[in-house]
Amino acid sequence: MSKSFDVVVIGAGPAGYIAAIRAAQHGMTVACIDEWQNKDGKHAFGGTCLNAGCIPSKALLESSELFHRAKHEFKKHGIMVGAVELDIAAMQKRRASIVRQLTGGIGGLFKANKVEGLVGHGKLLAGKKVEFTPAAGEAEIIDARHVILAPGSTPMELKLAPFDDDRIVDSWSALEFDEVPEHLGVIGAGIIGLELGSVWARLGSKVTVLEAMDELLFMTDRDVASVAGKEFRKQGLDIRLGAKVTSAKAGKKGVKVEFDDASGEQVIDVDILIVAVGRRPFTDDLCAEDSGIQLDERGFIVVDDACRTRVKGVFAIGDCVRGPMLAHKGSEEGVMAADLIAGESSEVNYDVVPSVIYTAPEIAWVGKTEDEVKASGRPYKTGSFPFAASGRAKVMEQTSGMVKVIAAKDDDEILGVHIIGPMAGELIAEAVLAMEFSASTEDVQRTIHAHPSLAEAIHEAALAADNRALNFVNR
Ligand code: FAD
Ligand code: AMP
Repeated sequence: MSKSFDVVVIGAGPAGYIAAIRAAQHGMTVACIDEWQNKDGKHAFGGTCLNAGCIPSKALLESSELFHRAKHEFKKHGIMVGAVELDIAAMQKRRASIVRQLTGGIGGLFKANKVEGLVGHGKLLAGKKVEFTPAAGEAEIIDARHVILAPGSTPMELKLAPFDDDRIVDSWSALEFDEVPEHLGVIGAGIIGLELGSVWARLGSKVTVLEAMDELLFMTDRDVASVAGKEFRKQGLDIRLGAKVTSAKAGKKGVKVEFDDASGEQVIDVDILIVAVGRRPFTDDLCAEDSGIQLDERGFIVVDDACRTRVKGVFAIGDCVRGPMLAHKGSEEGVMAADLIAGESSEVNYDVVPSVIYTAPEIAWVGKTEDEVKASGRPYKTGSFPFAASGRAKVMEQTSGMVKVIAAKDDDEILGVHIIGPMAGELIAEAVLAMEFSASTEDVQRTIHAHPSLAEAIHEAALAADNRALNFVNR
C-alpha cells in the first residue's frame, strides 16, 4: 500500500522545512522530501540558505571582517597583536562546521516534530500524488492531501561566461575557495556579488566588480546607495558601473573578461571570475505536465497572495514564487501555507519584508524608498541621523552611515526606514516591528531607547523627521 500524508513538502530549504514543522505543529502527518547534495556528495537539509547561501556567506563575512579589523583597527584601541596572518584552511573549516551543525539541527527538529524527512527527488503528479525517488532505490508514489512546493532557486548562468567550476564559478564555489585569489572578477553588483566581493577584498584580493547598470544598488534609497558607493570604493572595491560583460574566456592561468562601458571595449585579466547575475527558480523535473501547475514566462510557479497554485490543495512558497528571493520571506510563506491548510487564517505582509546586505557597513531597509514615496504622490517628510553623532558607533569605531526615516506628512505613519551602518541588519528589526503595527514617527519618538546604543540612531532619525533631533543639528 502506498504511503499517505496530510502534507507533503518538496524542498527542505528555509521555506520548505519551516512549512513542514508548522504543519506538524498543527497535528498533521507530514513528509518533507529533499535532494540537496553538498560538494562532498553528502545530503544535508537546509537548502541553499544553510548550505550555500546565507549562513556560509555570513560565516566568511564575519571572519574576514575580524581579520580586517585586527589588521587595521586594533592599534587604535591600543591592542598590539604583531603580524596578523591568515589561515584560510582554518577559516573554511569553521565555516563548514557551522553549516554542518545547523543543517544537522534540522534533522533533530524534524524528529522532535514527527516530520518524516525523505532524502531524494520529489515530483508532483496529477491528483496530488507525489513521486518520491530516493537517492538509491526505486521510485514510490505517495498520496498527499496537500502539497507544498518549495524547490528554491539556482544561480543564473551567462552563456557568454559558462561555469567551469574552476576559474568561472557561481556563488556557491566562491564560498569554498581554498586560497585567496590575487585578482578576483565579479559580474553583477547585486547583493550576492557585493557580499562575496567584500569577503575576498578584505582577505587580500584585488576585486573588480562589473555591473551592467549605471546605478549602484538600484533597489535601495538613493542616499544609502551614495554612502555605500563611497564606502565600498574607500575599501578598495573597484566597482565599474555601466560595464556590460560581453565575453569571458578561461585559460590555464586565469580568465580574460571583455566588457563594454562608456569609454568603449575593455579587457581585464582576472584569476577567478564569479558570476553573480541573479538566480532562477529551480523547477526542473518538479511537476508532471498533467499536474496542472502553471509557470510564468520567467519560470516562477504562478500563485496568488496566499501562495495557492492553480491546483486546489497545492501551495508553492519561497524562491520559486514571486517576491524577493530571501530566506525569511520563504519561511513566512511556509508558516502561512501550513496555517491555511490547517484551516486557520494567515497572511504574509509583503509590504514589510526587510532586506539586508551584509557588507561593512551593513545596509538594511524596509518599506518604500524616498523615490517610491515621491512617485506615489503622497506628501511626506524625512529625518536622518548620522552614526558619526552616535556615541555607541563612535566607541565601536564604526561611524560611517546613517539612519533615514520616511513618513507620511498627513498622519505621520512610517513608510520606509533605510539604514547603512554598524549592525544595520539587527537594527532594522525595530523598524519592521514599528511598520507592522503601522507606527508613526511620534510612536518611535516616544519610545525609550537604551543609551548608549546604536538603536538611538533610529530614535533620533524619527525625531529628525519633525526637526526635533536632540543630538544632531540637521537644519
Ligand atoms: P532553497 O534554500 O533553495 O531550498 C530548496 C531545497 O529544495 C534545496 O535543498 C533543493 O535541493 C531542494 N529541491 C529542489 N527541487 C527538489 C525536488 N524536486 N525534490 C527534492 N528536493 C528538491 N537570503 C537571506 O534572506 N539572507 C541572506 O543573507 C542571504 N544570503 C545569501 C547568500 C548567497 C551566497 C545566496 C546564494 C543566497 C542568499 N540568500 C539570502 C537567499 C536565500 O538563500 C534564499 O532566498 C533561500 O534559500 C530560499 O529558500 P527556499 O526554501 O525557497 O529554497
Ligand atoms: P541580483 O539579481 O541582485 O543578484 O544582481 C545581479 C546583477 O548582475 C544585476 O545588477 C545585473 O544588472 C547584473 N548583470 C547581469 N548581467 C550582466 C552582464 N552581462 N554584465 C554585467 N552585469 C550584469
